[in-house]
Amino acid sequence: MPHRTAKPLLSAAPALLGIPFDANSSYLPGAAGAPPLIREAFRCDSSNLWAETGVDLGQDGVFADAGDLVLDAGDAFAHIERAVGDLLDNGHRPVCLGGDHSITYPILRAFGPRFKDLTIVHFDAHPDLYDELQGNRYSHACPFARVMEENLVKRLVQIGIRTMNGHQREQADRFGVEVIGMEDLPAFDRLEKIKGPIYISFDMDVLDPAYAPGISHREPGGMSVREALSHLHAIAGAIVGADIVEYNPRQDVSQLTATVAAKILKEILGLVCRSRTR
Ligand code: MN
Ligand code: MN
Repeated sequence: MPHRTAKPLLSAAPALLGIPFDANSSYLPGAAGAPPLIREAFRCDSSNLWAETGVDLGQDGVFADAGDLVLDAGDAFAHIERAVGDLLDNGHRPVCLGGDHSITYPILRAFGPRFKDLTIVHFDAHPDLYDELQGNRYSHACPFARVMEENLVKRLVQIGIRTMNGHQREQADRFGVEVIGMEDLPAFDRLEKIKGPIYISFDMDVLDPAYAPGISHREPGGMSVREALSHLHAIAGAIVGADIVEYNPRQDVSQLTATVAAKILKEILGLVCRSRTR
């Protein structure tokens, strides 16, 4: 059921959009089930709706919820691109809940033509720069190769990477991707300097699996939740959209990862609200 706000929204308010799609997962499906569980954890009475940056997300009109897309496998990407483009054309800043990471490509096909000089800040254990994986050029391992080939953004800054291999190193060099590996953290100064407009793509597996076991590809040696929040909070430029992807409820333990995804969502919404008022 779409939950649409009846109240008027502040201009450029963030709009939540669930994208329950995991057909391009290469290893374990399940991420399609994430959006309602992240919403449930976000609304859970165990916490309040204030972001740490001092934004009360419980106030009417602070953000909208555009509900979850109902997708046909056949034209899912076109549908995602259209839905995100509609939100942008209505003055919203889409904050999308995946789904596997392949959805970032159609999302950015909507953003690319509407924003000049967009920078992506991409949190992930993986560079997701494969030219193709298992014969699929639209795999969740490939979205940033497609984005960079189509020149949809000016800069791609990746942070938390710890699975770089030879092929993806070549791809990163070819596309001029700026890679901040786990071994390079903290990197607050590099994020502070990035000028807007900024799009944040947050793959839950950037976190150490000890904090977020509910993902499809557990890669030890990742960020603590606090390291991720501190790096998000360091982003000073205007944020025009975001996604949180790869939460896989089938792998979760006691809804722990849903709670962490909801915390990340809360802070990202707070940052989008803060950058709107600057
Ligand atoms: Mn990813
Ligand atoms: Mn990943």
